[in-house]
Amino acid sequence: MLNLKEHIRTISDYPKPGIQFYDVGTLLANGQAWRETIDRLAEVVSAEKPDVLLGIESRGFLVSSALAARLGIGLVMIRKKGKLPGKVISRSYALEYGEDVMEMQEGIVAPGNKAVLCDDLLATGGTAAAAAALARQSGINVIRAAFVIELTFLNGRAKLDMPVSSLLSYDS
Ligand code: AMP
Repeated sequence: MLNLKEHIRTISDYPKPGIQFYDVGTLLANGQAWRETIDRLAEVVSAEKPDVLLGIESRGFLVSSALAARLGIGLVMIRKKGKLPGKVISRSYALEYGEDVMEMQEGIVAPGNKAVLCDDLLATGGTAAAAAALARQSGINVIRAAFVIELTFLNGRAKLDMPVSSLLSYDS
């Protein structure tokens, strides 16, 4: 078993001073490490037997699309405002400063489908909580959230009202 943390680069003061950025770019760049990441997530997520995955733009797409193909299930994109064609449902959510809007295409997945929400990293939980609320607005049953990385000191789990899995946690 690889030590996946060895493949995650940390960059200080990015994107702004005081933030330690956990870069999955270096994990993706290593074929063996990325395959193991997806294998390990597949083990956790397949136990739930989801119908679809929900992928959060943009690094969440990388995780969820590899995982969905591995599990042979569909993927629904959750994107920033204005990027998805056709009819969409929207939800605004609070950022550190101001707010943003996320969107999902309407009617591409039947209500009642069981879904696992995926992103690269769980920090404060605001993004994942908003994505889950958006999916539920369209009748999707969000049964779990799965992340490669969790910043446990930010306690994002407390914002999520579903079971949470992460492969790697950092406590500072
Ligand atoms: P949050 O809503 O605070 O849980 O932030 C999670 C989202 O922001 C994820 O989509 C991450 O990709 C990104 N993110 C937040 N903090 C970091 C960090 N320290 N390093 C890398 N990505 C981060």
